[in-house]
Amino acid sequence: MLRTDFQHLIDGELAGSEQTLEVINPATGEVFARCPAAGRAQLDRAVEAARRAFTAWRGTSFEERAALIGRLASALRAQQDTLAELLTREQGKPLAQARDEIGRAFTQSEGMTRIAIPVETLVDDEKSQIELHYVPLGVVGVITPWNAPVNLAAGPLTAALYTGNTVVLKPSPYTPLTTLKIGEIAREIFPPGVVNVLAGGDELGQWMSEHPGIDKISFTGSVATGKKVMASAATNLKRITLELGGNDAAIVLEDADPQAIAPRMFFACFVNSGQVCMAIKRIYAHEKIYDALCEALAEQARNAKVGDGLDPETQFGPIQNRMQYERVIGILEDTKRRGARILAGGEVLDRPGYFITPTVVADIAEDSRLVQEEQFGPIVPVMKFSDVEDAIARANDTRYGLSGSVWSADPQRARAIAARLEVGTAWVNQHRATSAFVPFGGAKESGLGRQYSIVGLKGYMEPRVVSVLK
Ligand code: NAD
Repeated sequence: MLRTDFQHLIDGELAGSEQTLEVINPATGEVFARCPAAGRAQLDRAVEAARRAFTAWRGTSFEERAALIGRLASALRAQQDTLAELLTREQGKPLAQARDEIGRAFTQSEGMTRIAIPVETLVDDEKSQIELHYVPLGVVGVITPWNAPVNLAAGPLTAALYTGNTVVLKPSPYTPLTTLKIGEIAREIFPPGVVNVLAGGDELGQWMSEHPGIDKISFTGSVATGKKVMASAATNLKRITLELGGNDAAIVLEDADPQAIAPRMFFACFVNSGQVCMAIKRIYAHEKIYDALCEALAEQARNAKVGDGLDPETQFGPIQNRMQYERVIGILEDTKRRGARILAGGEVLDRPGYFITPTVVADIAEDSRLVQEEQFGPIVPVMKFSDVEDAIARANDTRYGLSGSVWSADPQRARAIAARLEVGTAWVNQHRATSAFVPFGGAKESGLGRQYSIVGLKGYMEPRVVSVLK
């Protein structure tokens, strides 16, 4: 039965639209829900409402705002199971991971609201008192992708609200549903206009990026779209935070234990079927442990349970949408054509939905698509090196710079190598660890600005110098 119980939240009211979006369950390839798609006039109404609400909201204290965000987190916690099931249906990820995504959304939100943003005293002497205040920007437009819609909405939403801004939030047209439900929950908690949630197509994102009534865009998505947002934002010099794609390298040194690290590395490559900005997307392994690591990863792949995320046995769900599925198939075909060795996986499942088995590839040319592009799917290349300097150079030889990792029995040696990766985050003996208190974001073309932590929060505020001649 087609679900149609979804509405926008505009100025504290739930609203439909003339236009609609059809939402496909990627595990079946079938439309299972329909939701409204906002037009320009509805965006204008939402922006006007957010501007009106800003006047009072900016005057509230951090504590008051933290309390309301805490109430939203509690409400999400209370509805975690229902929301997780909806998230699995629209996004495809296994139910346990959908629950985990929602769980992380509220713990990260609560964490961020424990960060103090005090007035900073720069000078205080007999002549002058100079302070740095941080003030909210106004209306923040939040635009999110389809791979982790709840988590990637919760971070910017919390940051914007906590720092005193009002919000217009737009999820991806592929995964709008759970976000619209969060809008319904927010309606019960925040004053009208403080949080607005609008579903719509890509054009809605473009209208937001150009909109003169929006002061900042917090965008998470691909590099190509990020560049368009940056260009559109120039209309009124909007502030922007861009969280974009990655092609994360993991360097495995000769002293690492392949058996011990393979399960963790495998998870960092293939969780959410590789559709994670900070997934490991390239592995550079020292020649001494190359074969052993390849085999240990292939073993993990052979044992992986792929299927509908609603089945509790499933560890890896489908690719989220047909376009991405076809792109990953194209990369897989290119990989095979170029003579690389497929150690495990490499199968496109002959069943409804968009399933490709976790695929481990060895002996692949550095200039292949799989190494050069962000695959954003369940296929990972393992390359060999003999000189660590060469591995570092290859890891850095990309326009991306989101994150990376170094794996070794000697964490201090690995740390020195990690510090040379041209990325926003370099991990040692782990990958994909984030926290509300640690900034996350990309170097190079992987982004601009940071989310989370005091660094991220300051990106939602304007620094204002108050200088007093005594
Ligand atoms: P996408 O760029 O296609 O879409 C993201 C959002 O932008 C969607 O809501 C879309 O409707 C909207 N959009 C499309 N055109 C627009 C325009 N011209 N102006 C404004 N908005 C527009 O990305 P996607 O395919 O949904 O997501 C996958 C990408 O996101 C991958 O590259 C992935 O690495 C990246 N990502 C990055 C992070 C991070 O934190 N760095 C996190 C998750 C995903």
